[in-house]
Amino acid sequence: MDGIPVVFVDPKRTSKLCPICGNRIQEYRQNRRKLLCTDCGKSMDRDVVASMNIAHKAWSRFNMLEMIQVKRSILLLRNQCRNPAMMMW
Ligand SMILES: [Zn+2]
Repeated sequence: MDGIPVVFVDPKRTSKLCPICGNRIQEYRQNRRKLLCTDCGKSMDRDVVASMNIAHKAWSRFNMLEMIQVKRSILLLRNQCRNPAMMMW
């Protein structure tokens, strides 16, 4: 993972806010792993919500040039994961 920047973020409230509209998000009574935003109507898994909010927090710390570099690094990593042969180098 050489060259991929690492940013530490406070995980507080990352599974409490909708990553789409920013409003408070509610748990389903039947399934606490699933969250519903009553404002925009988006329904997502708790881990997906938290990971999106963590990514937003981390990206907000970069300036535009750094964000482009981070996106390139993520694309490179995705390509490596899709093609295990590329992970050998
Ligand atoms: Zn929402």
